[in-house]
Amino acid sequence: MKIADRISHITGGSADGWGVYYRARDLIAAGERVANLTIGEPDIKTDPAILEAMAASAASGNTGYTVGPGQEPLRREIAARVQARTGVPTNWRNVVVTPGGQAALFAVHMALLDAGDVGLYCAPFYPTYPGTIRATGAKAVAVPTRSDRAFQPEAAEIEARAAGARTLLINTPNNPTGVIYSTDTVAQIAAACVARDLWLISDEVYDTQVWNGAHVSPRALPGMAERVVVIGSMSKSHAMTGSRIGWIVAPEPVAEAVAVLATNTTYGVSGFVQDAALFALRQGAAFEAAIAAPFHRRRDIVARGLGNSPAVRLIPPEGAMYVMVDIRATGLSGAEFAHRLLEQEQIAVMPGESFGAPAAGHLRIALTLEDGALEAALARLRGFAEALRG
Ligand code: PMP
Repeated sequence: MKIADRISHITGGSADGWGVYYRARDLIAAGERVANLTIGEPDIKTDPAILEAMAASAASGNTGYTVGPGQEPLRREIAARVQARTGVPTNWRNVVVTPGGQAALFAVHMALLDAGDVGLYCAPFYPTYPGTIRATGAKAVAVPTRSDRAFQPEAAEIEARAAGARTLLINTPNNPTGVIYSTDTVAQIAAACVARDLWLISDEVYDTQVWNGAHVSPRALPGMAERVVVIGSMSKSHAMTGSRIGWIVAPEPVAEAVAVLATNTTYGVSGFVQDAALFALRQGAAFEAAIAAPFHRRRDIVARGLGNSPAVRLIPPEGAMYVMVDIRATGLSGAEFAHRLLEQEQIAVMPGESFGAPAAGHLRIALTLEDGALEAALARLRGFAEALRG
């Protein structure tokens, strides 16, 4: 019996680059003490008040089928939030609620790409990006960015790969690099999308984690709302990864297309989860700032701990819950460094190679360990790197 080619096509046949993560998980399961700085799971749990709202909603009977695009009060709340943050007129029909940002990424690419099209994404990239594009039958093409330019995409690199492309996927604040795209970068990206008539899919799931400068949504640039789809999520902003709730904000025809897909795939998000999300969004900015605060603090700990090392060069850490460092001065690849660091120092970080060729020789450090343990792990990582450099 045969499995559809569609599935092997998603991985593209390449190794997934998560070897260090799997090995760390095995070591932890075997009882070893490992400082785990691999994945972007917040180390805090969903706030009890959000869980109470969820339980109250379920107890009051919101346990049946929901409407595919989401409950209207939540869609209205998300629209109001986006409008308040960007100034762009947004109504509830522009919003579709999805089971997390990943489902939103999948649905939008399904809605905008046909088999044989090209879908562009910037590298380094969040690891699901190429597979999500390939799942539609389109060809996934990486737009490289450069470490020495703080991984800011450049219009010329987009235009050089635009033949046959219909979409460009960007992510700011960025996972895995921790950079925020500057106003100039976002303007360049927008201009390239207009010049080549591309849909711009803007993954903004880290928009509450901004440490330097400001987050600029391309949807807010003049004339761009008609070609930009924003991806949002409660996973990081409200520590709700397991609730699986996110959204798209898009021109109405795109939202309607995504809703058609929802009817035939997820059938919507649980009503009690949507009610919990509505409650959470209404807690306001101070609540979100409190959830983001530990990552900001830890960003500062990394900057202090590694900032002036001759062996470890910090990519300016501006946002999101990750820091990327360049360890090429040690002479090792990111993968070799990460494997040896795990075996010798019991510290698990992600090799840059997991996120595409431009991040080779780099490491991604997730800021998901309590401050003291993070500081201690960084001191050991630094010592390990400097000893290698000799
Ligand atoms: N986009 C980026 C850049 C991410 O880092 C993540 C999660 N790590 C997602 C999307 C998906 O998150 P979720 O499905 O939990 O909303």
